[in-house]
Amino acid sequence: MTYSKNECLSKDELISLQLQRLQETLVRVYNLVPFYKEKFNNLGIKPSDIKSLEDLSKLPFTKKKDLRDNYPYGLFAVDMDQIVRIHSSSGTTGKPTVVGYTEHDMDVWSEVMARVFTMGGLTSRDILQNSTGYGLFTGGLGFHTAAERMKMAVIPSSTGFTSRQLLLLKDFKATAITGTPSFALHMAEKAKAEGYDIKKDFSLKVGFFGAEPASEGLKNEISRVWGIHYVEVYGLSEIIGPGVAASCMHSHLLHINEDHFYPEIIDLTTGEVLPEGERGELVVTSLTKQALPIIRYKTGDITSLTRIPCKCGRTIARIESIVGRADDMLLINGVNVFPSQIEHVLSHVDGITLNYQIIAHKKGYLDKLQVDIELNENIMSENIHQLDNLKKHIEHEMLNNLYINVDVKLVAPKSIIRSEGKAVRVIDKRKDI
Ligand SMILES: [Zn+2]
Repeated sequence: MTYSKNECLSKDELISLQLQRLQETLVRVYNLVPFYKEKFNNLGIKPSDIKSLEDLSKLPFTKKKDLRDNYPYGLFAVDMDQIVRIHSSSGTTGKPTVVGYTEHDMDVWSEVMARVFTMGGLTSRDILQNSTGYGLFTGGLGFHTAAERMKMAVIPSSTGFTSRQLLLLKDFKATAITGTPSFALHMAEKAKAEGYDIKKDFSLKVGFFGAEPASEGLKNEISRVWGIHYVEVYGLSEIIGPGVAASCMHSHLLHINEDHFYPEIIDLTTGEVLPEGERGELVVTSLTKQALPIIRYKTGDITSLTRIPCKCGRTIARIESIVGRADDMLLINGVNVFPSQIEHVLSHVDGITLNYQIIAHKKGYLDKLQVDIELNENIMSENIHQLDNLKKHIEHEMLNNLYINVDVKLVAPKSIIRSEGKAVRVIDKRKDI
């Protein structure tokens, strides 16, 4: 079941719709946003020069920094009296980024999110516990508005208050839940500790999760403990919020709503557009937004794109689950390596923990990558032969998956220094030279 016919257009119909919307968007930003007019003029490009979707690659990228530099409303293409909603994401440094929506934008947003709920099998008969944060963050209200549009019963429980969430979940009989993967896992642990029988006490059949990366292992674990189908939801406020892409019931890849958000995958070093199937940074151009149209926005997220038809019948392209952030990429002797790929390999090995540290250094002219991994307490062994086999096994798996040689060093449990807050996973000693 699909929510919009635009999810199932033929290739020609889709391309023609995308091109028409792109050309309208370019005329709007050129005429209404001085930032874009100046950028296009500097390159000697007029909106009328963009005659095909491929021509889009002639245009410059928009970066998060551009939003900050034009804080708060410098990139808006409408007067403030047309704005009906403002959201903002907190920056770790400096000014936050500000996004605005017209009534039309709110309609687009709730439509693409309704598509996501439909991908997960929801209808007006469902009860949704929306355990995503409400407020300036786009998550909570993004889900909420679409659930109302679909005439579901929506419970705005927001995040936190885990015991109360569990009580509501049992008594109000929600059939679907939203949240971050880590909160879903935390709730499951708390449910067990409080004596709930997850499969009997709750009525959940599907969960919509996003806002933070989750490995396949974590997604499977959440599906298993809750007994639900896991829908991965991707979005970012600069594009619209949640609803840019999501996985359906038939595939772990995410359908991207490309009739509204045109995707390109670019090479991290050259910025060139990559062919289908190759991994690079996701760049998105909004095709229908009024308040904050955005051209070739560099999301910083690493993925690949495929147009192989999906069993569900949707023809829109699919992206793979985000592999990592462009900022986290390490270049080792010309090969791109993401910490998430290393974690993925480690998550399939017995006898070790996921407490690890990646150290890049130079030996002569060559880059070397070392990974220190804490052993599992139960495996801590005096048997040198056994440890040597484990080390060789991991090194073999790294070579198979990452195509580079990695030196593995197995270390005693709890010997890697813990940091307050975000773990320091990567130490790049090459930068010191
Ligand atoms: Zn599908």
